Amino acid sequence: MKTKKKKTIALIAHDNKKSEIVNWALKNKTTLEKFNLCGTGTTAKLIAEATDLDVKRYLSGPLGGDQQIGAKVAERKIDIVIFFWDPLESQPHDPDVKALLRIAVVYDIPIATNRATADYVIHSPLIESV
Ligand code: PGA
Repeated sequence: MKTKKKKTIALIAHDNKKSEIVNWALKNKTTLEKFNLCGTGTTAKLIAEATDLDVKRYLSGPLGGDQQIGAKVAERKIDIVIFFWDPLESQPHDPDVKALLRIAVVYDIPIATNRATADYVIHSPLIESV
């Protein structure tokens, strides 16, 4: 019997959204346990500390972490992105943010940019087929 490959979720949140993504991860811990997890530096660290989940850390977003995650999406190594970006504050790495949103669309992977959508994605029966 062929064993199914574990899917990988990337987790990213801008500073004003970090507590929101940590609370979301805590609430969805049992579901997230079924996935390989990774994230930008600070987000990954905070989620790992709060949940005890293993979250692979890329660089911090402003230092290239979004670009690293975008590259993994292009390599088909990341299947889902949860990205709580901040619509109320400009970011020094705005071009990287846009590039990540773009590459997720190019490769047609689910990308949840707020909590409501993240809930839909994580609880979707389609998640098995991503
Ligand atoms: P951070 O990066 O998790 O390292 O703060 C997120 C971002 O700002 O893109």
